[in-house]
Amino acid sequence: MIKTEIMAKHPNWVVAGYADLDTTVNCANCGRALKYGDGYTSRQHFTDNGAFGLCECGTCYFAQLKKELATG
Ligand SMILES: [Zn+2]
Repeated sequence: MIKTEIMAKHPNWVVAGYADLDTTVNCANCGRALKYGDGYTSRQHFTDNGAFGLCECGTCYFAQLKKELATG
């Protein structure tokens, strides 16, 4: 999904493709709050122009990675 679609579904989430490392954001996938610097670059959710992956928590990032590796 892109940021606009995620924000439409979850207006109270803060999702970001880039931010200061100390900024608290929500995981673009599950909504868990985390510091931008502690997140991973999403492989499934992107900024509206597709240039950057949105910040995602480790649990979601590695779950997606595992899925991609399993399906090739
Ligand atoms: Zn997550």
